[in-house]
Amino acid sequence: MRAPVNKIIPFSSVDGPGNRTSIFFQECNFNCRYCHNPETRNMCVNCGDCVEKCPTNALSIVDGKVTFDYNRCVLCDTCIKTCTHGASPRIRNMTPEEVMEEVKKQVPFIRGITTSGGECTMNAPFLRELFSLAKENGLGALIDSNGSYDFEKDSEHLLEVCDGVMLDVKAWSEDDHRAVCDVDNEMVLKNLRYLASVGKLYEVRTVVVPGLFDVKETVEKVSKEIVKYLSVSDIRYKIITYRPMGVRKEYLDMAPPSKELIEELKQIALNEGVKTVVTV
Ligand code: SF4
Ligand code: SF4
Repeated sequence: MRAPVNKIIPFSSVDGPGNRTSIFFQECNFNCRYCHNPETRNMCVNCGDCVEKCPTNALSIVDGKVTFDYNRCVLCDTCIKTCTHGASPRIRNMTPEEVMEEVKKQVPFIRGITTSGGECTMNAPFLRELFSLAKENGLGALIDSNGSYDFEKDSEHLLEVCDGVMLDVKAWSEDDHRAVCDVDNEMVLKNLRYLASVGKLYEVRTVVVPGLFDVKETVEKVSKEIVKYLSVSDIRYKIITYRPMGVRKEYLDMAPPSKELIEELKQIALNEGVKTVVTV
């Protein structure tokens, strides 16, 4: 079994509790306007446009497919800037065992792993195997998800082998959610309630982009839901300031929120009764 891995960050302190190794998968089923890593959205279509631009010959075409030589890459990002398909050629199709070998280099300096994306749950069978290996090595496992995977049905039994989920709630109303990422949020809100009810919701995240969606309604409604389940487990609410870095140029006119607005949103969440509100 293999999955397209975009990158592995050996040490991260922003993807869950403690020091963690973060694994980013390629491809996403949402299309967020504010995506900071738009090259992770799609799979490469092997058009070849980026191959000749690579200054170190890390890219080549073999049997019509773009091939990437990890050891030659100097991470200059020329290929990513060239691509017009929302893809990256710097993908490694790895097995869970290969990913775990890279993770093991950080043991005992990490507390666990976090899988992210793209949307990591598009590789749910792979995640199950990877998380099982993580457990065998004494590591925790967290999922960073856009909420499109049905965690209640959980066809791949991910919740049996992971510690929890960090869930994006991009907007409260369906229309607003579509405005942010082209997809409705029925499954996202179902996951918000289900994961909270079974104590598997580690954190909820909302990226604040004034004018793109109703940010005050979203923070208020999400907070009301979180509070209903605080007797099951604490649930952090992370309110994230949108910053126009790495964003596609057609969306660069979106303005970041003021510090005052972020503080106001934090107060809304605290007033609703959320115990742990983090602003970044
Ligand atoms: S990031 Fe790596 S693969 Fe891409 S152009 Fe630069 S050296 Fe080549
Ligand atoms: S990464 Fe983009 S530019 Fe390069 S071959 Fe794939 S689709 Fe074409």
